[in-house]
Amino acid sequence: MRILIVEDQAPTALYLRRTLERLGHDPVVASDGYEAWRIVQEENIPVVITDWVMPGLDGPQLCRLIRKEARALYTYVILLTSKHDRRDRLEGLRAGADDYLVKPPDLEELVVRLGIAERFLSLQHELEAKNRQLAELASRDGLTGLKNRRCFEDCMRSAQSALDFRNVPFSVIILDVDHFKQYNDTFGHPAGDEALKSVAWTLRLNVRENDTLARYGGEEFAILMPGTSADEASALAERLRSTIEGTKWPARPITASFGVATSDQDSADLAGVLEMADRALYHSKSLGRNRVTHGRSLETSASTVDEEPVMVARK
Ligand code: GH3
Ligand code: MG
Ligand code: MG
Ligand code: MG
Repeated sequence: MRILIVEDQAPTALYLRRTLERLGHDPVVASDGYEAWRIVQEENIPVVITDWVMPGLDGPQLCRLIRKEARALYTYVILLTSKHDRRDRLEGLRAGADDYLVKPPDLEELVVRLGIAERFLSLQHELEAKNRQLAELASRDGLTGLKNRRCFEDCMRSAQSALDFRNVPFSVIILDVDHFKQYNDTFGHPAGDEALKSVAWTLRLNVRENDTLARYGGEEFAILMPGTSADEASALAERLRSTIEGTKWPARPITASFGVATSDQDSADLAGVLEMADRALYHSKSLGRNRVTHGRSLETSASTVDEEPVMVARK
């Protein structure tokens, strides 16, 4: 185990380092609290054994710093000091130390205490792995394996904060499989499930690594595309539309309707863009389905009386 020894007295540090090496550990030494803090930040240090009295940052201060800057991986801290009355022990533990040993450390006790640290850290790692697994499960759609709506919305929020700092365009595509209720009613729900999986697969093959693709609802999918202009997004939507239409489906032809929207130059309101994509999708549906509408054509048509909206692409 990698162990950071923090000790300002060189002979004590040397003794500890040799002892830990003999016990099969991988120690590294810092001669004061500041150096220790730098090493903790730069390296993966699971265990710190720190002296109390040191120039600059002392042991309890180092503990507090480690606890305050909670990192992804837990740092187990053992205070090793000649201060040994009850008040000192309590102060050390309150500063965030996990354990407390009095100098000079009894070798057998050191071994046992390090065993406790190892047990604690291994439980901690198991818990973290389980949490990651749960988070992954909670963010995926069970049928298609794509991200689910909640995860898509989380991604939108993170993208929003990233986009607030940069003036890049981004686009959203929402698509909805046409007359899918009828598909289920005619061929059964399991056949419908297979069709949705195939649609998801087609989408997955066509989006880029930077894009966020999700199953947004039952037979509805959404794609968030940072750095993508209106024309690029419309072209991708049209490619997806024609690929879905051109696929040899086992039961009957399947098509989807698309709504696309793009941020304008000085506003990065993702929720507004999503809403616009949804309106454009609705427009595609109302014009007969199996087509792509970009939200900008709705804005144009709204100001042009009696004129049919400009379609980016249509069958
Ligand atoms: P439209 O073209 O207007 O979108 O018509 P639609 O029939 O696709 O739309 P509607 O909202 O009436 O029906 C959606 C259907 O999608 C109904 C529902 O059974 C089906 N669906 C939603 N989720 C699933 C799923 O996970 N598996 C299957 N097999 N069908 C699903
Ligand atoms: Mg000291
Ligand atoms: Mg729908
Ligand atoms: Mg539908």
